[in-house]
Amino acid sequence: MPISKATLSKIIAVVSVVGVASAGIIIGAIFSSQGPRENVVTSVTISEIKYRSTLPQPIDEQFMEIYVHEDVQEARFSKWSVEIYGASIGQLKMDLPAIDNVSEFWHLTLKGTNGTLERDIENRSITIHLNLTGSIFLDLVSGQVRMIRGVNVVDAVGYAGGSGMVPGWPAVDGGKMVNNDSHSLNIWGPDVDNSSNWYSDMPTPGGFNNLHHIVEDWVGNGTSDNITITMYNGFINANMNYTQMFYPMLPPVGPGIPMPELVSVDNHPTSGISTSDVKEYVSFTMRMIGEAGLFPNGPQVNDNGSVEIHIGKSDDFNSSSGITHADGKVYITVGNAIRSADPVLRQRGKYDVKYTIEHEIIHVFQMENSSGFRAVQDPNNNAWTEGEAVYWGQKSAAANFGISVAELNDEMSQIQNNKDQPNTPPQNWEDHGNNTNIPWWGNGDSKGMTTWLPNFDFYQLGALMVKFIIERFGNETYKNITNSLRNKDGGGTQPGEKQIRDALAENCGMSFEALLMQFYLWRCTGEAESANSVSEATVTDSFNYTGSGIAMSTTYVAPLGAAYETINVTNPADPPFGINITANPNNNTHGNYSVGVVSTLRNGTKVTSTFTIEENASVVIPIDPLNVGFVEIIKMNLNDTHVTEVGLEIIVMGVQAPSIPPHQPPPDIHPTMSTSSVICDGYRGTEYDGYFCIMDTSSTIPQPYITPGLYNITFLDVFTDLVISDNLTSDMHVRFWKYNIDSDMYYDETAWQDTSIPISVELDILPGDISASPPGVFVVAEFRDFNPAHTLTFFQFTFDAVFG
Ligand SMILES: [Zn+2]
Repeated sequence: MPISKATLSKIIAVVSVVGVASAGIIIGAIFSSQGPRENVVTSVTISEIKYRSTLPQPIDEQFMEIYVHEDVQEARFSKWSVEIYGASIGQLKMDLPAIDNVSEFWHLTLKGTNGTLERDIENRSITIHLNLTGSIFLDLVSGQVRMIRGVNVVDAVGYAGGSGMVPGWPAVDGGKMVNNDSHSLNIWGPDVDNSSNWYSDMPTPGGFNNLHHIVEDWVGNGTSDNITITMYNGFINANMNYTQMFYPMLPPVGPGIPMPELVSVDNHPTSGISTSDVKEYVSFTMRMIGEAGLFPNGPQVNDNGSVEIHIGKSDDFNSSSGITHADGKVYITVGNAIRSADPVLRQRGKYDVKYTIEHEIIHVFQMENSSGFRAVQDPNNNAWTEGEAVYWGQKSAAANFGISVAELNDEMSQIQNNKDQPNTPPQNWEDHGNNTNIPWWGNGDSKGMTTWLPNFDFYQLGALMVKFIIERFGNETYKNITNSLRNKDGGGTQPGEKQIRDALAENCGMSFEALLMQFYLWRCTGEAESANSVSEATVTDSFNYTGSGIAMSTTYVAPLGAAYETINVTNPADPPFGINITANPNNNTHGNYSVGVVSTLRNGTKVTSTFTIEENASVVIPIDPLNVGFVEIIKMNLNDTHVTEVGLEIIVMGVQAPSIPPHQPPPDIHPTMSTSSVICDGYRGTEYDGYFCIMDTSSTIPQPYITPGLYNITFLDVFTDLVISDNLTSDMHVRFWKYNIDSDMYYDETAWQDTSIPISVELDILPGDISASPPGVFVVAEFRDFNPAHTLTFFQFTFDAVFG
């Protein structure tokens, strides 16, 4: 194949990079020859102006704040001056003192008062006193201010009708005015060199601007049920370590697996999102939640009764991140996309920011509504906590923009980063959560699959669980789950508080484990996919049954996770087989597990059963290829801390499956059968029935074994190890038939007898009852569960029988 010019140049580029990289000493020389970066502040933003519109005008009250948004560290702030214009004060130009060790995200506050430089390192704030004796600093009725470095005007702002005096500010834009004299003017959002992002609100000298917004009537019932939002235009070092921030009272989750450190410091006014956007997004979600009747206790608020939302900037990722503190403070770092010049990318950034904010808003509601935070803080509840935030965050963002969740996810996936695996390409949310064999509900200690991780797979499984609950049990049940978590009065540790698992179990009317099994069946066997266009579940192992041979597998199952296995049954004429599932086959793991089986019949009907198996036990699921073409098996680990090993084996059962091991009936010398384990299924019967045969299959003993005559068979302790798939109380009965294999006739059935007491049956064997091939008498015991609540087929029992 000829190499094109473009391909050739790429190859050369790769080679040259490799060559340089192998000569590390030369690289060092090249970089050092470029010299150190000049460490001076050359760019600032005027961020706040505090003036009064009326007299008196106290000089110590006025200030002007400038903000170092430039990426500099320990830089020199020098050659700067401030110019002030005003109708009453004329024009002032003052050189500012040089200041060392100024870094990005510092606020410099200029005051007209007397004094020397004040440096507040902790708050990254410096106050510069201009020493204007007796003179006011900012104009009352029309002003403009400029920051100048050398001869360059770096930023200009007009206020209170101050326009047309200086370049850098529109001549027709008089700037904003304070609403009252306790307010200042604050920029919030991108600095676009006009007044559109300036607002009147409470002064914040030396700190991040914040604006107050009220979401009125958030529950939509016409009352004055309002939520106050305080939007901070930046934050300092939010230390967005997931574990510490979200669960500040708990040790890190899981041994040796630290939560990823997200972005650390981000600031204004360059994040690219406007205050009107934040207001719109937050209001939309709060009303959506309120009108749905969710989280009736409202959001977690700060001491002043306000939800705090801190918006900053991240240069590290295209997408945005968020974190919510236990005190309800939300921190959002806005990724690069929304600041892009490309409108398509910018729109994707908007979707992403919106989703991120809404996700965290859900956490704020959870904080207040979940029993003094405990349910939310408990790592065992991460799956639900995050899943709910993902579910509603996506729903709200999609609705806010008038697109579908699938479209939203597709747009966001174009810019999202997989923060845990930064080298993998971004993926659609809906391509995540396919593998159910991960510890998304568990926290454990071995096999590398026991710790919850904040990644897309875990989040998406949680979101699908919320979706499943709503689809299967309805909105009211879902609402009751979220609403029953709270026992704020109890301080989170008193009786009445609910863990999320308990709330799920109580409201869905089944154990948490049974509910989780139902979720796995929904997720894995097609229902979730068809209803929600999510990706297919990951198959742990798949087999083809070909009528012979034995397939075996051993699967490790994550705590409360599920392995998903399939068996394709190709030929209806193949003999019946059993699927033998064994817990802990190699005796090196622990725990009970639960099994769900979905048999797809040849007419397309699906038959589902579930049952629980104890540690070290096993169960055989009989399958008849005549009726069943495909089998799906969910093996769910019931232990929430340990990985469990689960074996699967396919056993060909022969034509007369299922049957007990051969024995020799009377009048032979074996009057007593040993205890046997017999598997019954719906083979040849209705779905409540099970059969087994008492027969002889040996060909080495002269025929016939059974001479005609009267025999008594006593079954002792018939169901000592009954396994019922749905844990309902059984009402097992048995009746007996004769079966002649030569004529394929069942006849002479007895009455049904209750198996809760020992059963004696008298069988009168006639000459015509004895078959020629295989030789012997078939006595068929038919079991039926008379509990009409049972819809499931498989059970297992042992018995002792006495012949005589
Ligand atoms: Zn979250």
